[in-house]
Amino acid sequence: MSAQLRILVDQDEVIAAFLPGLERLVEEQNPRIPKDWTPIVGTTRWDLLADRPRSQQQAISRAMSTSGLFASLEPIPGALEALREMAAEGHDVHIVTSPMSSNPTCASDKLAWVTRYLGNDWRHKVVITDDKTIVRGDILFDDKGSIPRRRQASWTQVLIEQPHNVNERLGLLSIPSLANWRVALQFLPHLTLIGDPQ
Ligand SMILES: [Mg+2]
Repeated sequence: MSAQLRILVDQDEVIAAFLPGLERLVEEQNPRIPKDWTPIVGTTRWDLLADRPRSQQQAISRAMSTSGLFASLEPIPGALEALREMAAEGHDVHIVTSPMSSNPTCASDKLAWVTRYLGNDWRHKVVITDDKTIVRGDILFDDKGSIPRRRQASWTQVLIEQPHNVNERLGLLSIPSLANWRVALQFLPHLTLIGDPQ
């Protein structure tokens, strides 16, 4: 058996389908979606508000700050199973997620989501922080390509591929989904030799 690792896993767009949930809420709050609406799901931009008319920005901002949004998200297929596999194989797994400050129930909804889909034991494995570099670990699975101060972190990032990070993959090992976590662990010993452009 391979060495046990401390594995850190991001929540939104890694285990919880944030963008589909956000788009669903926008549609609920705006029954008459304008013809020029650009779908949120599939966007190749990290900034969801960029290059949109003001009315669309307002609709997205409203949904993002709506209480309950983060509790309503669907699990990403295969992700919960991947977490359970990691833990079952002896790894020390933690969910590390940043809060959305504009949403009043974001943090509590994220905890409720973990409890609902993974059980109460996993609730105690959640770290909510604006700065993931302060959390110690061997590896971080995250969909954000440009994590500030990444080089100062103890962990090595593996990028979870999503359309919104297609332009942010340089210098990162990326995998299609958390279900492919074992592949990343095989490469982990070699990643520190590759270097990091950030
Ligand atoms: Mg994320």
